[in-house]
Amino acid sequence: MVTIERVEAFAIRSDLVGGPGTTTPRRPPWTADAEVAGPMSRHPRYKRLRAAWRPTWPGVGCLVTASDGSWGFGISRYGDPVIATINGHLGPLLVGEPALATERCWDMMTRMASPYSPAGLAAYAISAIDLALWDLKGKLLNAPVWSLIGGPSRPHIDCYATGNDTDWHMELGFRATKLACPHGPADGLAGLDANEALIARTRELIGHEVELMLDCWMAFDLDYTVRLAERLRPYWLRWIEDCLTPEDLDGHEALRRRLPWMGYATGEHWYMPQPFLHAASRRLADVLQPDIAWVGGLTACLRIAAIADAAGIAVIPHAGMNTPYGQHFTYAAPGAPMGEMFIGTPPGVPLAETRLFPGMAVPVDGRLIPSDAPGFGLGVDLDGIAAMRP
Ligand SMILES: [Mg+2]
Repeated sequence: MVTIERVEAFAIRSDLVGGPGTTTPRRPPWTADAEVAGPMSRHPRYKRLRAAWRPTWPGVGCLVTASDGSWGFGISRYGDPVIATINGHLGPLLVGEPALATERCWDMMTRMASPYSPAGLAAYAISAIDLALWDLKGKLLNAPVWSLIGGPSRPHIDCYATGNDTDWHMELGFRATKLACPHGPADGLAGLDANEALIARTRELIGHEVELMLDCWMAFDLDYTVRLAERLRPYWLRWIEDCLTPEDLDGHEALRRRLPWMGYATGEHWYMPQPFLHAASRRLADVLQPDIAWVGGLTACLRIAAIADAAGIAVIPHAGMNTPYGQHFTYAAPGAPMGEMFIGTPPGVPLAETRLFPGMAVPVDGRLIPSDAPGFGLGVDLDGIAAMRP
């Protein structure tokens, strides 16, 4: 039996978005300077830019090596504490376990983390190890992961683009796009006006044949969510997203009572399957958005997909098209109607130049088919992985 021989986590250069390509950008990306409303918007010192208060920890790479010399690679983020959790706790305790036993290893990891909670930062560590184990499994069984988990469920993935360079999204051929909301309660009535103006301008630019969504990134309270949603009703948003503090589960119930007509998506800052079970059983959202590299890996996403499917709720992983991991899950899951591609790279630079792994697919005319190479089809060797270190 092939067993786990080594689990090693280390810092990698960046998380989720690859470096700039060789093509000269037309203009800086929206991410360079755009204000995005968020949980810190009420504190003027840190209001303007998210980069002012978010941690500067690097991304996380996790290499799992098996007793036959084969290996798998996973990623996550929030470097220092997550690397310490893997190398100082979870990783060494998995050595000697069966390399194909993803369910068993996931169960062990979540239980080993229970004294300090498998949710939160530990979920990032569990994700990186779980994704590496699934990559390894695909290589050992010589099959793409989407095939191992029962896919494909669709001929291709229809993708939507997230970001505020909407003209670039349309040029790339996306038929659905999502804006980051610039203003929240701290900006008062002027902010409400500016938010509405942005949505109105965007709807006019894209017409009515393109779906439009709005991401509110934990920035609002219930009162502001209701006021903004009522204002935006004429613009036919497909959904609005992540308006409340993720932990405020009662608030989500109140939000559904106050806005029963509004499409709602959330879940990128929920960890482990339990909050998704809570939300699905109460129909708190129309779309659940676990991030496969944060929530607890592919094993967690498969459990969330089963819960959501039983409730008739869609699962569209957060930034799922930005990694091969999310691509394989989305291609295989029957209840995943779209894939999200976060675009923070400059307009004019082809998406193929911004990918994290050379083997991963990118959307063409808004559609994507994942690699059919074994594992997640990362297309890197060990030298390529070493080159991801900062
Ligand atoms: Mg989001």
